Amino acid sequence: MSKIIDLVQLPVLVILMILSATAASPPPDPVNCSASGDGTAAVCTISNAVGAFPDGSTTCRTAAVVYPSSEEELLHAVANATAAKTKMKVTTRYSHSLPPLACPGGGDGQGLAISTRRLNRVVAVDAARMEMTVESGITLRELIAEAASAGLALPYAPYWWGLTVGGMLGTGAHGSSLWCKGSALHEYVVGMRLITPAPATDGYAKVRVLTSADPEMDAAKVSLGVLGVIYQVTLALEPLFKRSITFTERDDDDLPEQMTKFGYQHEFADVAWYPGHGPAVYRIDDRLPMNASGEGVFDFVGFRATSTLLLGASRLAEEQSERLGSGKCMASWAAHAALSTTGYGLTPRSGWPFTGYPVVGPQHQMQASGGCLTSPEDALRTACPWDPRVRGSSLYHQTAFTLPVSRARAFIQDVQRLRDLNPKSLCGVELYDGILMRYVKSSTAHLGKPAMSAESADDMVDFDMTYYRSRDPRRARLHEDVMEEIEQMGTWPSSTAGSRTGGRIGTWPSSAQRASTREYPSSCVSRRPTTRMASSPAAGVTRCSTLVAVRRPRTEPGARYKECVCAHKTPTAHRSRATSAGLARSIRMPGSAPKKTSPST
Ligand SMILES: Cc1cc2nc3c(=O)[nH]c(=O)nc-3n(C[C@H](O)[C@H](O)[C@H](O)COP(=O)(O)OP(=O)(O)OC[C@H]3O[C@@H](n4cnc5c(N)ncnc54)[C@H](O)[C@@H]3O)c2cc1C
Repeated sequence: MSKIIDLVQLPVLVILMILSATAASPPPDPVNCSASGDGTAAVCTISNAVGAFPDGSTTCRTAAVVYPSSEEELLHAVANATAAKTKMKVTTRYSHSLPPLACPGGGDGQGLAISTRRLNRVVAVDAARMEMTVESGITLRELIAEAASAGLALPYAPYWWGLTVGGMLGTGAHGSSLWCKGSALHEYVVGMRLITPAPATDGYAKVRVLTSADPEMDAAKVSLGVLGVIYQVTLALEPLFKRSITFTERDDDDLPEQMTKFGYQHEFADVAWYPGHGPAVYRIDDRLPMNASGEGVFDFVGFRATSTLLLGASRLAEEQSERLGSGKCMASWAAHAALSTTGYGLTPRSGWPFTGYPVVGPQHQMQASGGCLTSPEDALRTACPWDPRVRGSSLYHQTAFTLPVSRARAFIQDVQRLRDLNPKSLCGVELYDGILMRYVKSSTAHLGKPAMSAESADDMVDFDMTYYRSRDPRRARLHEDVMEEIEQMGTWPSSTAGSRTGGRIGTWPSSAQRASTREYPSSCVSRRPTTRMASSPAAGVTRCSTLVAVRRPRTEPGARYKECVCAHKTPTAHRSRATSAGLARSIRMPGSAPKKTSPST
């Protein structure tokens, strides 16, 4: 009986969440300082937007936090820390990176956090040159709004308002486009003022002024925050324009083929794939002139303020599904139906309901959103769905990896084969908007997406997957083996470029191992697996060199699967990231060597 209630409860809760509140408690500051027990010194901690790092720890300790509000104060802070040989790192208003990228040193309480919370002004707008100079702590929301009020638009950007310019450059954040120079913010940086440590003869800190003509810019514009503190950034903008968005859904039979073409057909194309049930939602999204009619707004449902009671109940239901091993497929089906009925948050005007496609509106109202950031404080009656102050808020893993467009087809086909063996195993990722596939271009930035040699592969697809994570770091999740199989299929080829902001830390094959394996290892579920993972009620997944036979059991989710012949491979070595150029080494902040990061967002 309780099982039946759970199966009904979860989808109902998901729908209620979608229809939920319009006010919100804005997210907390990730930095907290309190007096130490003996009153001698402050103890400061830094966390991230979800309140937990991938290893399960919740905070990183620092000796102090400073909040400079001008270039002079910033210079002073960097000089003092350099003179004292103190490790330092920049922290931002909301800290959205899941790994502890903003943690100085090992988080042992000795380092200095430099917050950009007060460095959030627009410095200059040059309408004639279509350039805007901002301080690095400005959020995407503020940047977009300020540009629009000057009749300008940032053409491509991530979808979530809460990121800062410094954080987006630190992590190479992007939206979706193969047009122009692609969808990453750093491609539109034309100038930068950077404060870096310096020898005593230079006063321990100096201001470096970079333009796009300087070779150093390729190191500075994606730096994981280890090459100094970005104070100011100048961005190349465009005249404000409108966009027309239609979400259209179709079965995923031709998805592998479509992904190789769709990004060339529409400027802001992306695809959200719900691999358990099969549909792929294509975003047909193109530019229109400003005189096109329409004042549409895209206020994405998943970024809106949500009742904290519903958040808690929904999390409870998801945990129950984890225990029972069922319920997620029904929930994801219902959630997706509700999302698609409400146009995913597209409305013809602010405050209006969705009335149908296409929705046309100005770029600044369509390119990104974050309703839960902006509403007034309401004592935690509502919040962003992942707000760590909410007992039972959503806690999730995020993984992202990038493949050349030409290889995306084979990867999607392999995931389809894996899915066909047990469609239920992929319902969990559907609860978090499915596998989001966005287009990005390769970059000259040393830590950007690298160009692929030996093939024309400047154009890439970035795969983002978000899914349930237990608050107990030792507890495996339902069908963990399947998700990890997909992640390894996506990240084994030497040509993949991981994002650096997500939550997965894994083991990856050495280059020698990669060289000896085929481009994508086939995957299969065996009835007699060599390694059964306790986490999964389904059969264990093994990595296979030969896939003998697979039937498509999509209409029979509980069906038995055909045997396949597997040669088990054990990836052992960590994948290493390319490091920056010599210049990068010369201006690295003391003690802030880049951490080995996950191939994820
Ligand atoms: C809800 C949500 C939605 C997201 N959507 C997208 C998306 O659409 N596309 C995408 O690509 N990613 C997305 N991400 C991931 C996101 O891009 C990164 O987490 C993000 O760029 C972090 O920005 P932040 O301002 O929070 O920076 P933080 O996470 O605080 O910092 C990131 C890194 O940058 C460094 N840094 C920050 N400011 C400076 C500075 N001034 N000088 C030097 N170093 C600095 C920090 O030290 C740190 O190393 C999303 C994440 C979340 C939680």
